[in-house]
Amino acid sequence: MVAEETAASPPLEGKSPFELRLDQARGTSESAVKQALNTGDLGFIHSFTTGSTVDGPGVRVVAWTAGCQWRCLYCHNPDTWNMMNGMPITLGRAVEALSKYRHGLKLMSGGFTLSGGEPLMQDRFAIRLLRAAKQMGIHTCIETNGFLGERLSDDELEAVDLVMLGIKTWGNEKHRQLTGKDITPTLAFARRLADRKRPIWVRFVLVPGLTDDAEDLTQIANFAAGLGNVERVEVLPFHQMGRYKWNELGFSYALENAKSPDPELIDWAVRIFRAEGLKAY
Ligand code: SF4
Repeated sequence: MVAEETAASPPLEGKSPFELRLDQARGTSESAVKQALNTGDLGFIHSFTTGSTVDGPGVRVVAWTAGCQWRCLYCHNPDTWNMMNGMPITLGRAVEALSKYRHGLKLMSGGFTLSGGEPLMQDRFAIRLLRAAKQMGIHTCIETNGFLGERLSDDELEAVDLVMLGIKTWGNEKHRQLTGKDITPTLAFARRLADRKRPIWVRFVLVPGLTDDAEDLTQIANFAAGLGNVERVEVLPFHQMGRYKWNELGFSYALENAKSPDPELIDWAVRIFRAEGLKAY
């Protein structure tokens, strides 16, 4: 996607989230980080992607935030866990960079997606950037695990046109094994979004032998269908594009030998969601 260039500030460098990026905030003091988190004047961004067609409706600009408190066994981007791996970017610069794409995004029925990492780790920056996008007439989306959803007020939720919510498995015990955290806050956030009639796309990562339990999928499908605001479910096949990051970072990777699901398994999972009346892909 081509940005409308201005001499004042060049567009932020577009990078794939699959690129290993470390220590980009080196030299930023602890007090500056604290202040950034309190005010949202500064954000920590792992990378930007333009022209994405898989991170929400239409063609999108995506900002991948740094910082996540979960430790999903299948995480593709463990370098986004640490906020200090993100490049510090002022809110003003992020808004200016986004503004250069606003006409193109409207033409392509797209918008802006804030993903991560977990964008609500930087909730003040996230909401201010999303509000600015909305004010420019840009469709807004966050991709989140929902754990910190209560950080956003009801009023702030109005700045988010779509929530792409990761539901990883079912039941607190399995969820803790897979992610390190309970599922309860994620489900509470989903219910709150339903009460407020804010649309959700559910994202579910399918890993053979890890997240392919029929009972768990049925429970997730049943929960999602009962909400009434889930517009679609995306079954995302696990892949190994992030394996090298685990190895480079020296983290122990439990899925070293895990395979991607074959088309039959993906189809089987999609049918479980469709059986509950959901649009699933
Ligand atoms: S919530 Fe997302 S970024 Fe965080 S560990 Fe899980 S997959 Fe990785």
